[in-house]
Amino acid sequence: MKKLALHWKILIGMLLGLIFGFIMLQVDGGGEFVNNWIKPLGTIFVKLLKLIAIPLILASLIKGISDLKDISKFANIGLRTIGIYVFTTVVAITIGLVLVNILQPGDGVSDETIAKLTSTYASDSGVQDKIAEASVQKSSGPLQFLEDMVPENAFTALSNNKLMLQVIFFAIFLGISMLLIGEKKAEPLKNFFDSLNDVVLKMVDLIMLTAPYAVFALLASVVVSSGDPELLYALLYYSVVVILGLLLMVVFYLTVVGTVTKKNPFWFLKEISPAQLLAFSTSSSAATLPVTMERVEEHIGVDKEVSSFVLPVGATINMDGTSLYQAVAAVFIAQALGFDLTFADQLTIVLTALLASIGSAAVPGAGMVMLVIVLEAVGFPADKLAIGLALIFAVDRPLDMCRTVINVTGDATVSMLVAKSVGKLGKPNIKNWDDHYDEVK
Ligand code: ASP
Repeated sequence: MKKLALHWKILIGMLLGLIFGFIMLQVDGGGEFVNNWIKPLGTIFVKLLKLIAIPLILASLIKGISDLKDISKFANIGLRTIGIYVFTTVVAITIGLVLVNILQPGDGVSDETIAKLTSTYASDSGVQDKIAEASVQKSSGPLQFLEDMVPENAFTALSNNKLMLQVIFFAIFLGISMLLIGEKKAEPLKNFFDSLNDVVLKMVDLIMLTAPYAVFALLASVVVSSGDPELLYALLYYSVVVILGLLLMVVFYLTVVGTVTKKNPFWFLKEISPAQLLAFSTSSSAATLPVTMERVEEHIGVDKEVSSFVLPVGATINMDGTSLYQAVAAVFIAQALGFDLTFADQLTIVLTALLASIGSAAVPGAGMVMLVIVLEAVGFPADKLAIGLALIFAVDRPLDMCRTVINVTGDATVSMLVAKSVGKLGKPNIKNWDDHYDEVK
């Protein structure tokens, strides 16, 4: 019998997790059971992915750069990457703004719903935390992000998953210096990182063996911790607008993949789908990164020289789904609370949502923190922020899951475009976890 493809196994795991979660919601103490006995399996899986993220970025970026024959190629890849990332993000925000202005989801929200959402969530610690986090982010100067990118201690950077850009900086610096000392001298270090890279990719294969079970646990725990169904229902129209925008982004990606790389867009979608399903289940592009890298390199054929840079940078700064969501959410809140937005305000949203998506961490719920900054940029009164966020808080998690899928798909798409443009889009080279199993059995 033909083995079931990984994405089917993961999908089945997700579906069963959803069903199990809903059943447990009906059972007395079911939620507690899931939280105590099921959720940890999902948490362990996410931890394992995060565990290998830093070693993978380090090894693969150093290998990628030290394989380059000349450094100018790297500057070329870097500039194209940033340029295309900004472009796709602006497309995403524009789609979001157009949809929310045409469909006006905020106009239909009744005063009772606003009152109910406000009383349920405005003083919720989740909402308050996001506002507090946003004020920390905001108080930084314009060049703070450059300062933050440069580590003062390599080991501190390597020991903190939140410092991904610092790790990228260190790896690029090291890789370029390796090129400059000449091939012979750099060889031992290069071999070390080559080998580390292969080992970590093998770890991804092994972790992925458990993915179908882990997504079961992750989805079951999302279901049992979801809010009041009535409130979720009140926000249905707003959610549909966000999801419609995200779907349009998929159409956009598939169109550019088809036209620019001349590959079948549905093949691309199929090969990348395990990463998308994990993005959905974990709500974190950072946790999904190792899988995205493995899929893009081995299953799509993007050369490591490109993917090792484009994907980690993308996970941190390119969030098309998040920026689309920020545009829709900001205008939705303004519509619902009767706050008028001028055309200039909408342009401000484009600019701040672009910067906010660059500044958002690739972790669950980060998009909502930066939404505060977008709202403040258009002059939204500070004392109403909590009410604004309360309006969308109930559906934030499911929408976070969806926008993370787009964030990851956007990164994968751009890696293909950049690879194609510099002649580095090759053939897939799939490795299985048990390729050498017979030798060590
Ligand atoms: N969860 C998203 C990500 O990791 C960020 C966000 O939109 O909240 O990509």
